[in-house]
Amino acid sequence: MLLLLPTFVVVLVSLFVRYSQAVYVSSLNRRMGRRGLGEECSTPYSPDENEVMRATFARTKSRRDGASSQGYEFNVNVNVVATNMTYDGGWVPDSQIEDQMTALNAGYKGTNISFNLISVKRILAPVIFETLNLPDSPEQERMGSDFGTLFRSGDGTTLNINLIGFSTDDETYGFGLPPTLYTEFPQFDGVYIRFNSLPGGSSKVRQGSTVTHEVGHWLGLWHTFQDGCSGDGDGISDTPAEASAASGCPSKRDSCPDQPGLDPIHNWMDYSDEGCRDSFTPGQITKMNEAAAFRISLPTSVTARGAKP
Ligand SMILES: [Zn+2]
Repeated sequence: MLLLLPTFVVVLVSLFVRYSQAVYVSSLNRRMGRRGLGEECSTPYSPDENEVMRATFARTKSRRDGASSQGYEFNVNVNVVATNMTYDGGWVPDSQIEDQMTALNAGYKGTNISFNLISVKRILAPVIFETLNLPDSPEQERMGSDFGTLFRSGDGTTLNINLIGFSTDDETYGFGLPPTLYTEFPQFDGVYIRFNSLPGGSSKVRQGSTVTHEVGHWLGLWHTFQDGCSGDGDGISDTPAEASAASGCPSKRDSCPDQPGLDPIHNWMDYSDEGCRDSFTPGQITKMNEAAAFRISLPTSVTARGAKP
């Protein structure tokens, strides 16, 4: 590890200078829009991207029908980004990563989808640890692109869980990018998680469920409260409409009384408390299987620049 330190220091100096450049076209931002509603997750909602998903998943339906009976198992690379080699600096112990994998697979039990940890990479990169966030500004897009190009591993079927600090953002615990962005922006693909939200971590509010939630985005889901009480909502017919994100665990909450059903506060894609969220709906599971079929249909040659298979 010590032998690699000088290399990372050189990278950081280079990146810091480049992020200060003012002229840059933020193409991913144009496609996805600005960050989502605050608190747990900064994943944006894009109705246009939802339409792209509908059309794309329809095209890969035949592959889904052929492969779904076998189940989908995704390989996982965990990238631990730290500012130093202490826990508070992001140096998460292997035991918490293993417990997170157990929690993730428990959350996806019954969905036909599972996850298999194949590598843990540890990266000393203070600027990334402290400031990386959703790529909705030129500086963030440049930083995220550089990070993914250098450190993302695998192809479109490889889930990269990037543990970072969000030190300059008190609210966000993570974000995940939708599968249909992969073809154009493979270097960003994955989920980005506040390091202390793993099981046994120092967060008082999240102990593993953020990864389950963000992987839902990685498999094409939106928040249950998308579009409030009107419109297309999250695009899933069996998630009741919800006016806004839930907090706590309000069992009788009915924020859209003119729409059927109580609020889906137990759904992984809401913002309710840790321990309150425990389920996906059948409609969400169907969409995630469509997303899984799409991911395995991607040519393996489409990888992030510099990524290793
Ligand atoms: Zn979210």
